[in-house]
Amino acid sequence: MFKSLFSKLMSSYLLVVLSTLLVLGILISHLFSSYYYSSSEQELKDKGLEMAGVMSDYMEQGQSVEEILAVTGSLVNARVFWVQRQALDFAQRGRIHGLRLDRVEVEQILKGEVITKQAFMSRFNQAMISVAVPVRVNSSIAGALFLFTPVADITDTISAVRKLIFWAALPTILFAVIIGYFLSRSVSRPLQDMSLASRAMAEGDFQQRINVSSQDEVGQLARSFNHLAGALDNTINDLSKEKEKMESVLANMAEGVIAIDPGCRVIAANRQAIETFGFDQSTLSQVLAETSLPDEVQVLFNQVLVSGETKSIEITLNNGKLFLLAHVSPLRETGAGVFGAVGVFHDITDLRRLEQMRRDLVANVSHELRTPLTSVQGFVEAMLDGTIEGEEDKSIYLNIIHQETIRLNRLIHDLLDLASMESGKTSWEINAVDVSELISRVVARLQPQLKRRLLTVKREIPAALPLLLANEDRVEQVLTNLIGNAVQFSPEGESITIEVQAVQGEITISVVDRGSGIAEEELPFIWERFHRVDKSRSRALGGTGLGLAITKQIIEAHGGRVGVRSESGRGSVFSFTLPAVPGKEPE
Ligand code: ADP
Repeated sequence: MFKSLFSKLMSSYLLVVLSTLLVLGILISHLFSSYYYSSSEQELKDKGLEMAGVMSDYMEQGQSVEEILAVTGSLVNARVFWVQRQALDFAQRGRIHGLRLDRVEVEQILKGEVITKQAFMSRFNQAMISVAVPVRVNSSIAGALFLFTPVADITDTISAVRKLIFWAALPTILFAVIIGYFLSRSVSRPLQDMSLASRAMAEGDFQQRINVSSQDEVGQLARSFNHLAGALDNTINDLSKEKEKMESVLANMAEGVIAIDPGCRVIAANRQAIETFGFDQSTLSQVLAETSLPDEVQVLFNQVLVSGETKSIEITLNNGKLFLLAHVSPLRETGAGVFGAVGVFHDITDLRRLEQMRRDLVANVSHELRTPLTSVQGFVEAMLDGTIEGEEDKSIYLNIIHQETIRLNRLIHDLLDLASMESGKTSWEINAVDVSELISRVVARLQPQLKRRLLTVKREIPAALPLLLANEDRVEQVLTNLIGNAVQFSPEGESITIEVQAVQGEITISVVDRGSGIAEEELPFIWERFHRVDKSRSRALGGTGLGLAITKQIIEAHGGRVGVRSESGRGSVFSFTLPAVPGKEPE
């Protein structure tokens, strides 16, 4: 019932006020009644003494008691009786006019003392105040006057006074209730508000403030609370900003990051790590052994937790398609031990591929150079030691040697060309190129080969074609390469189609042949250096395996893109797309 501070304050306040009023009321009414009794008693006594004096004077003058009483009795608001000396002497013990007196009291009267008494008297059938006053006639006690007045008159007055006190107390109580209510509320309300606000703060709402107007301790407490809430709000804000910063740094890192606690439970993993290792939502808070993290990484984490030393390993994922450098370091608090470990996973696939490419390149270049050199060396030695004799044979082999040196020369030229393009040193002049004119030029230059293989060239070029924005010589090189390949890989008597399309500010040129085509699994590698579907055939045809690599380099350096569609045995479509001159039509 008195659980709340408000009810406690209110009830104790009311208790104090009520008990004070009660004690005061009782005290006042008690004081008043005792004062009123004693003053009534005194008054009766005084009246008695006065009457006794008058009686004594008149009796000495020989007047009868009845006459005197008839005159004086009406002046006193009391019942008055005269008791003679003999009756007093006789009534040593017992009742006089219904008033019980003991021997001592009678003797006191006889000695001239006044006796006052308060008792219920059956004669009057109520409580009475009684006074016995001795009357002296000629220095001896002639008798005594007995005066009786009812207590009831006094009690009525006292109860009227009590009522008055009660009615006076009632508004006081009402006033006390109102004051007590507001006082208790002014204390309990801010405390209640603070309790609600702190609960809201516990749930993360730090905007809570208490309305304070009072200057007392509760007001000070509320102000301190507001200050605390503000400070907490700022601190939490700062902390969450810091956290957000950390999270966005983690999320935007190119490396995958995984952090664990000493119990090997995952406590953080960034987007990269989640994607790389195929984690799901439940991974956070899982122990490492339950996650899809590779065993060697789990072992590495455990080793770092135990040894407290940084360790790194290289791991391979996705069947050798993904290379990661795992770098795991212990998490330490200054002065304390290891409280976890953090692993950073660096994708080194490109690095590995580059290394592999470099190795392949060296091997390929060596191989490509060695083959023609070996044959040149063979033929020259055969001629020197006389194995090849006769002018006709020599001329045939010298011709082969000549072809091989041409190929070697072209190979070295292509390699240098590629190298300079890859190093980014080349800067080309960009011109507006008339595509149909360029195509005609390339086709004209390739006429001897086309004729030799009985090939025809079809052109599908729109009439209103914008100019191409590129380096003319380089586009010519690309076109020569693609048409040259189409010529090489087309069966005799077939046709080659050159299609040109202009779409959305770009021009796409496609070379379509109906030749051998390229198997689907070969297509992704077709643009790589030295990649040849049929090595011996390509070499026999004088190819270096660098043509398409150079084509791709040139087109991409112009900001364009290359494409290939092919089906084994049905032909291929090699295309490239480059930007067109905005709004310009060929003249
Ligand atoms: P190469 O000098 O050997 O022609 P490329 O880089 O130009 O070198 O071509 C690489 C390989 O791609 C060729 O060896 C060949 O196997 C294949 N290729 C290129 N163009 C065609 C095509 N039009 N049809 C079929 N295969 C082709």
